[in-house]
Amino acid sequence: MSADLARLAAGVLLVPEGAPEPVAFAAEELGAYLGRMFGPSPVQRSVAGPGGAWLCLAPADAPVAVRALAVPAGAEWVVRPADDAAVVSGASPRALLAGVYGLLEAAGCRWAPRGTHEEHVPRPDTARRPVAALELRPAFARRAFAADLATWHYGVPERLAARLPSDVAFVDWMAKRGATGLLFIRHANDTQWVIPELVPELRRRGLDVEGGGHVLVELLPRSLFAAHPERFPLAPDGRRSDLGNVCAASAAALAVVRERAAAALAALPGATDFHLWGLDLPGGGWCACPSCARLSPADQALSVCNAVAETLGAGTRVLHLAYHDTLESPRAVRPHPRVWAEFAPRERCYAHPLEDPACATNAPYRRALDAHLTLFAGRVHVFEYYGDAILFGGCAVPLAEVVQRDLDYYARAGVRGVSCLVFGQYSLWAYGVNVEAFARGAVSPAAAASARGTHAAGFGRAAEPVARYLAALERVMAGVVTYGDVLLPPAEAERAAAVRAALAAARRQAPELRRLLAAAPVRLAAEEHLLDYTFAVLGALERWLAAADAEAREAALAALAGAVRHVRAAGLVGAGTWGLHDLEITHHFFAGALRARGAGQ
Ligand SMILES: [Zn+2]
Ligand SMILES: [Zn+2]
Repeated sequence: MSADLARLAAGVLLVPEGAPEPVAFAAEELGAYLGRMFGPSPVQRSVAGPGGAWLCLAPADAPVAVRALAVPAGAEWVVRPADDAAVVSGASPRALLAGVYGLLEAAGCRWAPRGTHEEHVPRPDTARRPVAALELRPAFARRAFAADLATWHYGVPERLAARLPSDVAFVDWMAKRGATGLLFIRHANDTQWVIPELVPELRRRGLDVEGGGHVLVELLPRSLFAAHPERFPLAPDGRRSDLGNVCAASAAALAVVRERAAAALAALPGATDFHLWGLDLPGGGWCACPSCARLSPADQALSVCNAVAETLGAGTRVLHLAYHDTLESPRAVRPHPRVWAEFAPRERCYAHPLEDPACATNAPYRRALDAHLTLFAGRVHVFEYYGDAILFGGCAVPLAEVVQRDLDYYARAGVRGVSCLVFGQYSLWAYGVNVEAFARGAVSPAAAASARGTHAAGFGRAAEPVARYLAALERVMAGVVTYGDVLLPPAEAERAAAVRAALAAARRQAPELRRLLAAAPVRLAAEEHLLDYTFAVLGALERWLAAADAEAREAALAALAGAVRHVRAAGLVGAGTWGLHDLEITHHFFAGALRARGAGQ
């Protein structure tokens, strides 16, 4: 006899007695999908026996295949046929759930980030019935998605309600794709640490609720400034300021930060990591007092993380952010053993993989990453922007190849964890290939290669033309995403001229891209709106760079603002709440920066 899924679907599903919630959820999921594939669902039976995170599919009355339950060192989960039974076993409840989905995927299931209605579940005649041995040894231990709390508009109940269903679907897909957690990023204006409505969805699946972000402002309340200005940074003008982070030399300030960080972590359900970052500024938030002045911004930030790590104690990690003015590795301060670096190369070039020696822009980022890997003895995670609708100005930017090659490089370099910033439904629309490639590649970089096909498969009959279109779009947009924020082309004349030429080159490819999209057997209106928006933005930026006077610059900015209508036309289902509410705010911000620059010309 061999393990046959169709036969096992008519047998029993043995579940360890008193199993934690994600194990029970894994049993429900396994039973439900087997039922959808084969008709019968196995009868669940709770059994005493070895503890741990495992499930056993067996013929009725068969005992647990105990010898098959062990998970080898270094593996997260295993699927093992054991005579006519089959076992799924995980190193943790979350890993067990991922193993169940791995078994179902091997049988022919295909997952979809927009919800179960877009999944493919095979029928008895198309499902692969023999259970093969599987074992997962992931490239990265931490595989997280990250999102800014403000994008939930939690202060506006109807906007929050409008996006929550898509978030629940996304969390479900995260578990199916083997992600490990979701980071809620707090900014200076936020009033909460998590989206409480999503916490049960994460916990049910054993996914980590990760918290923190740009939180030093929250950890050192500004209300203390009047009585204790010396706890706050000395600005370059020689005055203490409550606008920056903290005076890293102030023991009293650090005592407050430590205490409040401990309270914040304790309030994050089940969390052991705390992301302790300074303000989200290009620079200027750190202290210039005589004690701090000898320290770089990165050294100051790290010294705060070190102090907090000491307070949080064993079993926790503090993540120090390498980003903007803290991107360079600290030089004077050594990291506490429980402090990890979170390397966030936002202004890198996305036309080339980070390791591509032909890209001069990315070389300093590579050096900075290497320096962190050395200083932190390998305790380094990378925070990536493959789904960043602000960085890419909302434009469609497929990056399947860059994502795959980056993750392969990060894994070889010794990076232990990766995360990817997303903006809800908007990221699935404009960066869907990247999100799929990241999720797959974080488990195994080579697996990112199938992302374009998987994403395109979601378009049904149009899959092949969509795959061709996305590959062409990826080549065209690579010429554009070389200079950081797409909506903020460089001011310096030589670089501006190069970007202008790149925008013109992209414009010349627009008819071909439209032709590829129109070749689909069904009209893909949402994709057309996104392409219209993308070329409206690129055209307006080209006009801005070509503008000879104030009038021409204003006309370019008007065209840029006008582009947003194409996104609105896609509606909530296409563009999500970010497209309907936040894109315009992003445009105002960048137009303001461009206008200020124009006024100086
Ligand atoms: Zn200071
Ligand atoms: Zn480059």
